[in-house]
Amino acid sequence: MEYEAVIGLEVHAELKTGSKAFCNCTTAFGGEPNTHVCPICLGLPGVLPKINRKVVEFGLKAALALNCQVASFCKFDRKNYYYPDLPKNYQISQYDLPLARHGFLEIEVNGEKKKIGIARVHMEEDAGKLIHVDGSGGGYTLVDYNRAGVPLLEIVSEPDLRSPAEARAYMEQLKAVLEYTEVSDCKMQEGSLRCDANVSVRPLGSREFGTKTEVKNMNSFRALQRALEYEIERQIAILESGGRVVQETRGWDESRGVTVSMRSKEEAHDYRYFPEPDLVPLVIDQEWIEKVRRELPELPNSRRERLIRDYGLPPYDAGVITSSKALADYFDRAVALFPDAKQVSNWLMGDFLRLLNASGLEPDASPVKPEGLAELLKLQQEGTISIKIAKQVFEEMFATGKGARQIVEEKGLVQISDAGELAAIVEKVLAEHPQVVADYRGGKDKALGFLVGQVMKATRGKANPALVNQLLKERL
Ligand code: ADP
Ligand code: ZN
Ligand code: MG
Repeated sequence: MEYEAVIGLEVHAELKTGSKAFCNCTTAFGGEPNTHVCPICLGLPGVLPKINRKVVEFGLKAALALNCQVASFCKFDRKNYYYPDLPKNYQISQYDLPLARHGFLEIEVNGEKKKIGIARVHMEEDAGKLIHVDGSGGGYTLVDYNRAGVPLLEIVSEPDLRSPAEARAYMEQLKAVLEYTEVSDCKMQEGSLRCDANVSVRPLGSREFGTKTEVKNMNSFRALQRALEYEIERQIAILESGGRVVQETRGWDESRGVTVSMRSKEEAHDYRYFPEPDLVPLVIDQEWIEKVRRELPELPNSRRERLIRDYGLPPYDAGVITSSKALADYFDRAVALFPDAKQVSNWLMGDFLRLLNASGLEPDASPVKPEGLAELLKLQQEGTISIKIAKQVFEEMFATGKGARQIVEEKGLVQISDAGELAAIVEKVLAEHPQVVADYRGGKDKALGFLVGQVMKATRGKANPALVNQLLKERL
């Protein structure tokens, strides 16, 4: 039997407002434990929360960028649960009347576009952080409330995703939208963007959904994709052996590459939702909505179209470049200085992203600035250095922050384009490899590549490859 996966994502994004959702404490990440707190976010008796206008504004921005209908009237609710990361024993959230509904996000997987429905977008507050300390006699747990009360946006998709690759594309696209609208930092590693994945499988062609599980604890796109792949296989194996999938919450164990059962799934009624009596409902007037809509920045999809249209970039390149606002900004600045857009995109998608990922840096924190990359590309274009040396210089620029020209001069990497100088090396290589020479003369064209390689090696990559080719052919 063939199966199909059904996936829906619940994404939490921390909003980068300066202060928390219902008090004036800072939202700054880190800090000494329990220093970004006050009686309100500590849930002390007798205090009253007050909604931060910026939270609503950021929520509106994201909701409109996600093509949602914004509610003209919404309210906050208490979601009750007892856990030490939650000082009030309830979380202020939104239940039956969320900020926005019925949106969509367009994704593209393998060249095919698809609209993924967004069921709802609502505002809520984050909980504190628990730090478990091992110790003799069982250890103990510390609580840091700095994060308690930091505003979150929860964005719930419809169960429209059909594969781990689609789920990943959705998550990447959503991250891009939240970055472009500048409502969240979206750092999955720091937890400012988090995702729970609901997944079920069903026989291909079936119209009913299967029983779903909810997978938590994935803190990268790769982890999301791997966790879903594993979980889909696990569910299929259960069905194939005649069993039934249990509805439950499972955690992704990154090191073992498996999902493990955490707890049986809680239902809405377990949380005893009721309207938050300490906050007035929100009435959002149409004027405010329209103002935010007018001020929306260019979004990833239209920027992508623009790169394809204005620079003739292949759609794939444009997708990679615009997946991050910082990367797209970097690209624009580099192309302004070095107008061969395809060359710039090749470098960004290749060595640049490879080194950034390896060092865990964002594009705007790269030691090589767009000006530096443009300088390097000019050196290569004018023939001062070969492509091979350019790659080497780029690594050096990345590691030291030095300029391309400086490195080329310091290390004597200027390309050898002097036929006289190269001729001697060519002679030497030919003399050393009589058999290869004979092979080439005997019709084995491939032998030429070997000889070119030897000359490049002898010059430590500095020889002008086109000239080497020409000289060899002349002599042969
Ligand atoms: P619950 O009430 O169990 O939390 P919701 O209807 O709120 O379920 O949906 C939560 C998330 O699960 C949404 O993203 C939704 O798209 C997704 N979802 C719902 N049903 C399924 C299913 N059968 N398989 C996979 N995902 C599902
Ligand atoms: Zn506070
Ligand atoms: Mg739910």
